[in-house]
Amino acid sequence: MNAENIEKIETQIIDLPLKRIHKFSATTINTKSFLIVRIYTNNGIMGIGEATTPGGPWWAGEAVETIKVMIDTYLAPALIGENALQTKKLLLILSGIAAGNPFAKAALEMALLDIKGKALDVPVYELFGGLLRESMPVKWPLAQGDPAADIAEAEVMMSARLAQEFKVKMGYMNPDDDVKYITQILEGLDGRAPLCGDLNASWNEINTQKYLPVLIGEGLDMLEQPVAAWNKQAMARIRQTSTIPILADEAVCTPQDVNEINTCAAADMLSLKFAKSGGLYATQHLAQLADAYGISCFAGTFLESSIGTSAFMHLAATQGNIDGGSELIGPIWLADDIVQKPVTYKDNHVWVKHEAGLGVSLDEDKIIHYQRK
Ligand SMILES: [Mg+2]
Repeated sequence: MNAENIEKIETQIIDLPLKRIHKFSATTINTKSFLIVRIYTNNGIMGIGEATTPGGPWWAGEAVETIKVMIDTYLAPALIGENALQTKKLLLILSGIAAGNPFAKAALEMALLDIKGKALDVPVYELFGGLLRESMPVKWPLAQGDPAADIAEAEVMMSARLAQEFKVKMGYMNPDDDVKYITQILEGLDGRAPLCGDLNASWNEINTQKYLPVLIGEGLDMLEQPVAAWNKQAMARIRQTSTIPILADEAVCTPQDVNEINTCAAADMLSLKFAKSGGLYATQHLAQLADAYGISCFAGTFLESSIGTSAFMHLAATQGNIDGGSELIGPIWLADDIVQKPVTYKDNHVWVKHEAGLGVSLDEDKIIHYQRK
């Protein structure tokens, strides 16, 4: 195989508008920041990568600004002159240079896999064993904090056949108000679509044990990450008494997390996100480990653009036990995209791209328009 030697790595922050505000337990956002990575080889191939967090550093400690410094100062210089096709070797180099920083490493790996796919003229999914599915169901997040607006949004998504299942972001109100809010949304949906609640680790065990039976009685069909990421024992006790599935998100970033969740039976399903685990290969490792334990996985998101969304589809579509659906909604949740042909959404599914590499090309005019000044 020919070498694709890395000549240059560039990073750039852009800020994209949202269609509407989005509330998380810890913050409310109306724009989304991205770090765009471009890796150039001596043969003229450019690989594209992307890092984005849910809005600043609250989720993972990393933010686009810290990711840019980490890549520019430490990670990129170590890759210059290396063969971009030696993915695993380059990942070892990165892990030797910096502990942690999974979002930064994932962005670089994404660009390296884009190069490899383009060099071999195959979609990235071929590097992970080939497709098991062409598309995945979409679960849409309701996050405006206004039941009437959230229900209206759900109606639009259902009638446009973009999504027929929903999750609601919780944890920024007190638990009594959260329960009232979710009850109103469930009444609006009137049993026509399943609703999951995502607490983003914001409740304690006592509140979860007190309020979860009420939410189940109202019709909630799944609960995502009620308590702190480290508190798998509490998740296990909550799961023991819950009659609906418990989905782990913040609690599952590493192989050791998967082992611990399995050992203490802390979750029914795992939400995998390539950025929190350091990339697609690391996420494939988690999926395969979960598969060995018979645990299903869900394709979670940090609300990436079409770049990161396409990247995760290339992996998720190749893993048999990522069979719990997806929330890969970034491209239709953002008010604009930065690629020429965005990811396709139809029939309540998100679809994999078939062009070589990630299958995305940057829209340079939009990159200039949205670049941070
Ligand atoms: Mg979550």
